[in-house]
Amino acid sequence: MSGRVFLIGAGPGDPELMTLKAARALREADVLLIDDLVSRGCLAHARSDAKVIEVGKRGGCKATPQEFIERLLVQYARQGKTVARLKGGDPFVFGRGGEELEALRAAGVEVHVVPGVTAGLAAPAALGIPVTHRDVARGVIFVTGHTKDGTEPDWAALARSGLTLVIYMGLKRVAHIARALIDGGLPADTPACAVEDATLKTQRQILSTLRGLPAAVASAHLASPAIMVIGDVAKFGARVTISCDPGSELSRAA
Ligand code: SAH
Repeated sequence: MSGRVFLIGAGPGDPELMTLKAARALREADVLLIDDLVSRGCLAHARSDAKVIEVGKRGGCKATPQEFIERLLVQYARQGKTVARLKGGDPFVFGRGGEELEALRAAGVEVHVVPGVTAGLAAPAALGIPVTHRDVARGVIFVTGHTKDGTEPDWAALARSGLTLVIYMGLKRVAHIARALIDGGLPADTPACAVEDATLKTQRQILSTLRGLPAAVASAHLASPAIMVIGDVAKFGARVTISCDPGSELSRAA
């Protein structure tokens, strides 16, 4: 008897932003492997007898090697288990979901992908920012400010693109990124914002301009996880968060 793996996007934070399909997969799962960006409130859908394995790998914490996670997924599936692999946001947006899918396919394991609401959409939405408002943006692009091999996006090309820039993992390099975009021709007074812990009770945000972004991030002591949104659409950002229902909030466990 062979099992199967659900590769699930748990959404950006607020457990109510998880999909119905994700909740159903969780109910079916014998084993859950969860990342630390996943709200513990999502586990409300899991069976009480399910085995929960935390495999977080955020800065400062002891990382669970990716190969080990992949081995566990394969091992449990081969034991006939239904496995839920829960990842923050969408599993395929900067989340190594692709590597896990490859490993599972190579091992001949049945795998189902459940997409999730990525933080890059949820963070601007939480401030009321329409990322492709047709009056001011021709599109939106998701980029990372931090890469495994030190290469980086072509900021000058992005500066010329007319696209709303949504930057993941860029907080530590905000000064460099802002400088590179301004040098690339993006006006220094372009609206910009950063959102920490989007959709969670702990959400904090700053609204600024491209020029002012590094100082605003520093003075608010914003920390990871955070998303930056740069582009004229950021002018629609509201300081007060109204998009998530505070009554439904189940914050991440310590
Ligand atoms: N797969 C995830 C992204 C994983 S990379 C997704 O689709 O959302 C981790 C980065 O995502 C963080 O460094 C941060 O830039 C962003 N992120 C994830 N959750 C976030 C949240 N609740 N608020 C702000 N940024 C978040």
